[in-house]
Amino acid sequence: QAAGKEKPAWLRQRAPQGPRYEYLRDNLQELRLNTVCEEAQCPNVGECWNGSTGTATIMLLGDTCTRGCQFCAVNTSRTPAPADDQEPENTARAIAGWGGGYIVMTSVDRDDMADGGADHFARTVKAVKRLRPDMLVECLTPDFRGDLAAVHHLASSGLDVYAHNIETIDRLQRRVRDSRAGYVQSLEVLKTAKARGIYTKSSIMLGLGETDDEIVDTLLDLRAVGVDIVTFGQYLQPTPLHLPVKEFVPPSKFEHWRKFAEDVIGFRYCASGPLVRSSYKAGEYFMEAMIR
Ligand code: SF4
Ligand code: SF4
Repeated sequence: QAAGKEKPAWLRQRAPQGPRYEYLRDNLQELRLNTVCEEAQCPNVGECWNGSTGTATIMLLGDTCTRGCQFCAVNTSRTPAPADDQEPENTARAIAGWGGGYIVMTSVDRDDMADGGADHFARTVKAVKRLRPDMLVECLTPDFRGDLAAVHHLASSGLDVYAHNIETIDRLQRRVRDSRAGYVQSLEVLKTAKARGIYTKSSIMLGLGETDDEIVDTLLDLRAVGVDIVTFGQYLQPTPLHLPVKEFVPPSKFEHWRKFAEDVIGFRYCASGPLVRSSYKAGEYFMEAMIR
């Protein structure tokens, strides 16, 4: 973690437990579904999965990614197992049974598949909408290696929010993300999705050594391609082999960026806090964005 510093109190979360947590865990296991909540060791599982409409973010296309970003705890392999053909239907069945009105789905990067898994993702959106036409669906997507036809295909599947994370400022891209990802490529993905007339969203991790000016530049670039919603969260080092944290950014600074993103840059909505993740309270935040 940050240069020998202890994790500050504002980052400590309770271990997940409770009946709703157990129900979701068993339901996911039964249908052979993975979640980014568990695979990426998200600190919010106890909070997100509990409550009467507690929900998880399903991770499609397996639990193994073809990339190896320096910040990410997900397993990696050049040759992951083939995608489960039943996954779109199983995902839709799980989501339909959970209740609630908003769901986030994401996936690993599948550079081994011709379309990066875009059609599998799109089929899942369609299956969810068939079982629950009222469900708002947010997809947190890979960059499909800049294959804009794949982006267009998924953006046309009936989803409501197209999220793709730029993750960090331009200068730190190579250090933080897999070499096949990139700043301009991610902006192109977001621009292509926006051209379909849907809401778009992106996330930035703080605490990796970025400067304030670099954050401002990134916000301007995201807004310039039409991004509606932006989120900020603290980067946490998942294992000692991953990138160390440069700084634990205090909650007051996150609040500064929230106001700045909304009032100065003009995003429709910004969620910003040490434990905010792209999918954290995504439904609540989306509703807030809509009433503005
Ligand atoms: Fe993790 Fe990077 Fe793979 Fe996304 S692309 S799952 S961040 S390793
Ligand atoms: Fe899962 Fe997202 Fe909540 Fe983390 S913030 S537990 S990834 S839904």
